[in-house]
Amino acid sequence: MPQISAAVAIAPHSPLEPMELALAEPRGMEILVRTRASGICHTDLIIRDSDFGAPLPAVLGHEGAGIVEAVGDAVRDVEPGDHVLLTQASCGHCNTCRQAHPMNCENFARYNISGKRANGEHPFDGRISGGVGGQSSFATHMLAYDTNAVILPRDYPFEWAAALSCGVTTGASSVLRVLTPSAGSTFVVIGAGAVGLGALMAAHVAGCSTIIAIDLLGDRRNLALELGATHVLDGADPDLAATIIEITRGGADFLVDAVGLPGTTADAVQSLRPGGHAILLGAAGVGQRAPIDIMALLFNRKIQGATLGDQVPHSTIPALISLQRQGRFPFEKLLTFYPFGEINAAIHDMEAGRAIKPVLLFD
Ligand SMILES: [Zn+2]
Ligand SMILES: [Zn+2]
Repeated sequence: MPQISAAVAIAPHSPLEPMELALAEPRGMEILVRTRASGICHTDLIIRDSDFGAPLPAVLGHEGAGIVEAVGDAVRDVEPGDHVLLTQASCGHCNTCRQAHPMNCENFARYNISGKRANGEHPFDGRISGGVGGQSSFATHMLAYDTNAVILPRDYPFEWAAALSCGVTTGASSVLRVLTPSAGSTFVVIGAGAVGLGALMAAHVAGCSTIIAIDLLGDRRNLALELGATHVLDGADPDLAATIIEITRGGADFLVDAVGLPGTTADAVQSLRPGGHAILLGAAGVGQRAPIDIMALLFNRKIQGATLGDQVPHSTIPALISLQRQGRFPFEKLLTFYPFGEINAAIHDMEAGRAIKPVLLFD
């Protein structure tokens, strides 16, 4: 069994603790990956701080990239030495997987948030949960699956790849795969973090002509302007919907709410034109409810969720890499790098709003 170093979440709102653990050998469809980089996502902190997902203590992290070291006997598409980015895992054979919606996999919970391997066994031992996001990337090695490994070009930096595992791609895929705006559309994003700015850059790529970004922080509004926003608004503005309706002359065609609080959800509906389409991506927390104007929805407005932007990782992520290489999707501007040993400082900077997308670097 590989001996690994991991950062373990032991209690809500507490620093992660370094531990040496024994990780199981890959079997069946599993692969063993040596971690080279990992993003940190707000969902990791939701798992740490609430009853959602793998029970503590747990090795969190679901934005890993690295080099394949070993594969199970049923793996066909990945081999040792491959450079891979790990996304959320899917089973590959259920009804929704076969319909090209792997992020709605009927076995999603078992593969990503159960705290165990998909086969029901423990990845470390019975005390510590793993398998988060089909990987648990806050560790020097990860046990993943061939279904959630996207093979990378050999010359592509791991520290960029890791940032495409979840948040940035969730925002971008929501626009490119779900909203599919036509050129000249009007677009609004609430929240200019990794998800929101991913959506904004995708709206820019898609040719939206009016792009409005909303955030409480001035430096994030400035970054939004640099990435293609035509207008920025302070999230503290009490009349956001009215301002958006004025700028767009009647309401936005498309909107992404990357915050997901009751107030932003209500604003999202009010800001759409009749027939407009909004996606909610913010994780408000279990049990949160929003006051939505039912009469507004009657006028053909649409509002929906989109797990991980309904991405199909093996086609969505290579497309985003190509766009980035052309300078059209410069998500590297959102990244701040930390050595793995400074993971608690990285989490602190993210919680304080100083780092949009922290990425951990491994030796
Ligand atoms: Zn995430
Ligand atoms: Zn499935």
